[in-house]
Amino acid sequence: MATVTLSNVVKRFGVFEVVHGANIDIKHGEFVVFVGPSGCGKSTLLRMIAGLEDISGGEIAIGGKLVNDVEPADRGIAMVFQSYALYPHMSVEQNLSFGLRMTGNPKADTDRRVKRAAEILRISELMDRRPKKLSGGQRQRVAIGRAIVREPQVFLFDEPLSNLDAELRVQMRVEISRLHKELGATMIYVTHDQTEAMTLADRIVVLRAGHIEQIGRPLDLYDDPDNLFVAGFVGSPKMNFIKAQIAGHDARGVVVELAGQEKTRIIQPLAGAAPEVGSQVIVGVRPEHFGGAGEGDTDVVVAIDVVEHLGGTSFLYARTAHGEDVVIQRDAAKVPTTSEVTVSIRKSYLFDEKGLRLR
Ligand code: ATP
Repeated sequence: MATVTLSNVVKRFGVFEVVHGANIDIKHGEFVVFVGPSGCGKSTLLRMIAGLEDISGGEIAIGGKLVNDVEPADRGIAMVFQSYALYPHMSVEQNLSFGLRMTGNPKADTDRRVKRAAEILRISELMDRRPKKLSGGQRQRVAIGRAIVREPQVFLFDEPLSNLDAELRVQMRVEISRLHKELGATMIYVTHDQTEAMTLADRIVVLRAGHIEQIGRPLDLYDDPDNLFVAGFVGSPKMNFIKAQIAGHDARGVVVELAGQEKTRIIQPLAGAAPEVGSQVIVGVRPEHFGGAGEGDTDVVVAIDVVEHLGGTSFLYARTAHGEDVVIQRDAAKVPTTSEVTVSIRKSYLFDEKGLRLR
């Protein structure tokens, strides 16, 4: 079974610790995406799983076997890089078969694997071409094909779509999802693009500065983020954050007052301890959770700066009376024509000053 387990994995480059004790349990056949901003350590984690970087502390097991000291070639993994890393002087067919030929794999078996990979990736008609004569998307398919022919236990992808244009990225994203279904293999995928993470993953690992902020299924992270960072990172346009303070408590929960707007009060039921009256908090509202006036807990008057029409939906870029920027989602048919509009907050999240979710 191609499980991948990271236990307290630490990475130091010299005196700098860049991964601070990561614990991740990846199931057989699972598609897990590591996502986070530049420099958060996601590539380093992937490279440690691949064996391309040493581990400074902790343990990595693949298929239940400790691999800390196992060579990359013996880990049962295959990695696909952003840069494709194809041999320019070889044909597609030679690129695909090269690794297997080098290990002395029987020719008939190599031919069978190459043919199958080419069929899966729909590149059979390109077998005689050199990489130079391929489009970016075709090159990336060949790079993925080279991983498939190795029949690895685990596929590792390091930002494989970063060099493609927007349309091709979407197309290849769907292809990678299809590939995962077809092969049923364990896949670990690194990206800084939250849309890629949301659409591809069975589970997402959100990283920041070498720490795991949250691990969960895409919609669980979206609906139920643990902290301000995850709330802001998952979702596009991102969650709106509005400064507020605790104004009191009533039977239904804490009463929160938005900054500079005495009458805009939100009531949040909290299972945990409520912060003291007067403490500063942050109210998070997703663009789609603003309703029309009177539809929610509280009404907020906003001034609209820009309206973006995307077809079925539109985004209103607006400011609260307190000068905070907010993005509001509306059905195209319901876009207001006035420059000022009253909206209500239908659903919100509450975070303390340190960014931890209050619930
Ligand atoms: P990006 O999306 O920009 O690739 P990342 O999340 O993949 O970022 P890593 O490449 O894993 O981040 O880097 C994590 C941290 O480790 C960064 O601060 C980086 O500067 C540092 N780092 C990476 N490789 C080395 C190295 N060989 N020597 C020293 N520091 C390194």
